[in-house]
Amino acid sequence: MTVEPFAGETVRSLYRRLAERNAIPSGELWTAIRHAQLKLPLKTTPEAAPHLVEQLAGLPPGHLDGRPQDRLFVRCAHAAWQYNPCPICAPLPAPATMCRRCTRGQTVEVRTRSGAVCARHHRWHYASADDDLTGQNAHLHAERFLTGTLWQRGLALNTGELELATELLGFRHTAGPQHAQPGILDGRFREYYPKAVQVTALLTEPWAERFLTNIRLGRLPVAVLVAAVVTAVDTHSRHQLATLRESFRAYDRETLITLDRTVRLRHGRSPGLDEFGTKILAIASRVRGTFLRHADARRPPTHHEHAESSRAS
Ligand SMILES: [Zn+2]
Ligand SMILES: [Zn+2]
Repeated sequence: MTVEPFAGETVRSLYRRLAERNAIPSGELWTAIRHAQLKLPLKTTPEAAPHLVEQLAGLPPGHLDGRPQDRLFVRCAHAAWQYNPCPICAPLPAPATMCRRCTRGQTVEVRTRSGAVCARHHRWHYASADDDLTGQNAHLHAERFLTGTLWQRGLALNTGELELATELLGFRHTAGPQHAQPGILDGRFREYYPKAVQVTALLTEPWAERFLTNIRLGRLPVAVLVAAVVTAVDTHSRHQLATLRESFRAYDRETLITLDRTVRLRHGRSPGLDEFGTKILAIASRVRGTFLRHADARRPPTHHEHAESSRAS
């Protein structure tokens, strides 16, 4: 018996459903597959034999390679260093679980241009969750923004920026020293999703990118900028949001910040950060690295790497 694949479904996910549908333990099915191809690893790793899984499922060869429209955007030589879903350089996004209503109750993992919210069923489906989002329009809006504007900047659900934005928002809401655990599986991700998308959007706009790229400024201006962005988003301050873009200018080793009052920061001088700013200062290099990652240009991967990246699932 075979199963119908979902668009963008991973090899691993389809393999698991095939085994379940036929009531065969997945290890036993793997042993059978290994009889056909002895070089395969002993451990159950269907992603090492995508074409055999395609055969088992009655699919044409290459079906599980992923769809072109689901690729992440990258900057590369093939499109004059503009963001594009390059068929040579652009990888698929990391595997993510689909909405359970869309899959009629099944656990399905896909690599598609999508986030954590199902707009059709208003469900939160991040990491196998299935939570109701009825009436939470901010989440739907955030989802559209992530898969639209942010996707075209090379960002996706699991590229690291939303995780860090969630961590930064957490800093504002937790008093005392933060023992931050990188990782968004701590329940705050759903709550902060709309704000995390907005923070990420602002910090990856060209003006912020220019500011963050100027490494001669040191860590302090980074902390001041990020604190201002997170605070403006978190407090829904229309005034601050409107003026942010014009408020941060970097000139060589001097930074001009005109947010509430004009502040000139010279390299190495303290602007008197509050507790929130101090927490950001402690991780300023990681913040800068993460929010600039999307701007890195890609070199075409070797053929081998490309096969690995489109197959890893
Ligand atoms: Zn390319
Ligand atoms: Zn759905």
